[in-house]
Amino acid sequence: MQKLRIALGFSLAFIAVWIGAFAYISFFPENQIPDYTKDDGKVSIVATIYPLAWMASDLDPAATISTIVGPGLEPHDFSPTIDDVKKIQDAELLINNGGVDAWADDIINDHRSGPTISVLTMLQYPETDPHVWLDPVLMQRIVESIGGQLELIDPKNADVIRDNVSKKVAVLQGIDDEYRAGLASCSVPEVVSSHDAFGFLAKRYGFTVYGIAGFSPENEPSSAKLVELTDLIRSHHITTVFFEEFTSDALSKTLASETDAKSDVLDAIESLASEESERLEYPGIMEKNLAKLKTAMVCQE
Ligand SMILES: [Zn+2]
Repeated sequence: MQKLRIALGFSLAFIAVWIGAFAYISFFPENQIPDYTKDDGKVSIVATIYPLAWMASDLDPAATISTIVGPGLEPHDFSPTIDDVKKIQDAELLINNGGVDAWADDIINDHRSGPTISVLTMLQYPETDPHVWLDPVLMQRIVESIGGQLELIDPKNADVIRDNVSKKVAVLQGIDDEYRAGLASCSVPEVVSSHDAFGFLAKRYGFTVYGIAGFSPENEPSSAKLVELTDLIRSHHITTVFFEEFTSDALSKTLASETDAKSDVLDAIESLASEESERLEYPGIMEKNLAKLKTAMVCQE
């Protein structure tokens, strides 16, 4: 009898645990189990790529910002780790670009329900050319929408956030002013770059960039394309063939030496490529790129 009572007691306890577990799972369906660690007074922002992390920085004093594609890594062919997946899933605000970070699309669709700013979608651009962060005018709209989301997530800091958004928009406006003035009058408004990363910048400031590879640096150009570019550099008197830190400089250097053009680095700011770029941050790198473009395109101020 004693044994039976103990056995019955165990069975009831076992059933109670299962009922409890089932009720918890039913109440919080998959992916919506609340994360109680978030009540720490901090707002966790995750950006897939560096330039978007910079847009979100210094807006909310309670924010912590992390970037999925770290310094020295190239976002086009990045593979997220399990830890990255968790960060994207759990962020209180996620900012992704579209296209260049297509590896994040499935994670967002399958695992995310929180506030998400998808830059190309928000700006209503297709993903053909993802390099929109190089346009400081379009980025002002992105900073404003990041600020709007942060005000909703962290209303007690709304005034500070609004103030910081104005400051950041002013920085971007300053970059735009410098580019407009610097590239207003150039004798050779054409350059060649190793991959097609500067289309948004070129369209904004009225010059032309011919990419050796396509929108992604892994694309191999055909030999016909190289012959075409060689002819173009010679006939249009293009002075400079740019390459980037992350891409092989072999083709750019060959094209430059074939045509007596110079070769130089232009930073597509896809991530922080060097200690110098970490120090300069987005505005400093944009300024450095402007100086190189002015020389390459023979611009007068
Ligand atoms: Zn790119």
